Amino acid sequence: MYHGLAILLFVSILQAADPVPLGQLPKGKTFLVILAHHDDHTWEWGFGGFIARLVDSGWTGYYVRTTNDEKDGREWGPNDQVNLRESQEAARHLGMKEVISLNWRNDHMSSAPLKEIRAQYILLIRKYRPDVLMSWDPWGHYDRNPDHKRVARAVGEAVWMAGLPNVHPEHLAAGLEPFRVPQLYYAQREDYGKGHTANIAMEFNQAQLDRKTDAFWSHKNVRGNPASPEARRLSMETPSREAGKRAGVTFAELFYAIGEWDDVPGLKDYLQTNARPK
Ligand SMILES: [Zn+2]
Repeated sequence: MYHGLAILLFVSILQAADPVPLGQLPKGKTFLVILAHHDDHTWEWGFGGFIARLVDSGWTGYYVRTTNDEKDGREWGPNDQVNLRESQEAARHLGMKEVISLNWRNDHMSSAPLKEIRAQYILLIRKYRPDVLMSWDPWGHYDRNPDHKRVARAVGEAVWMAGLPNVHPEHLAAGLEPFRVPQLYYAQREDYGKGHTANIAMEFNQAQLDRKTDAFWSHKNVRGNPASPEARRLSMETPSREAGKRAGVTFAELFYAIGEWDDVPGLKDYLQTNARPK
């Protein structure tokens, strides 16, 4: 019994210390963050630090709030608009350009038609043509929130389907062109269970951590005020340090990153061998 406990402890320490390779800043200029709720881009496990770093590096970012957040907060009636305003404030702290609200009914997304949600994402991807897209991990299991699961699945499909000309040809008739998102960064709490495993750490600095903290606490309608300035600071600093440790840096967030073109067998090698600068 004692032995078993010792092994269990040892295993959990090993898991906590699993190293994650440090990612380089991706190439590009536009990013899209598509999530379910007003505050999803501000949690400790993502995405604020990476967002702030991209903005500081000259990128333009857009936040897509998929639901109307009517049930999140103290008063059902005003929640939608109060949460939207606080989401805009959080986005401003992070330096994002705009919050786009799709207003699907909060907590009802498991019965909302996947195809309709996906069609909206495809339209946005074709409009903004993001070099990077962030969302929940479509393959992450056990997230109890029905809106998170629905959004993740629709995003996972949309990033690929937006590149197919026969998908929603009405978008092409409206002047948009197919576009497949080249770089994807998915986050999720790792303690939600198997399915999500981070494969890259993105570093950020103290000033970017401060903005991540400001963004998190912008959502007063659901979070109220921190117990103390110390509690406020540690709320984002502690998890950012923990994630940073796994990549040998001070602060980081962990993602499951996919380069959409890397999965075509041999393409990367072919381009490295044959592509020549103009
Ligand atoms: Zn959420």
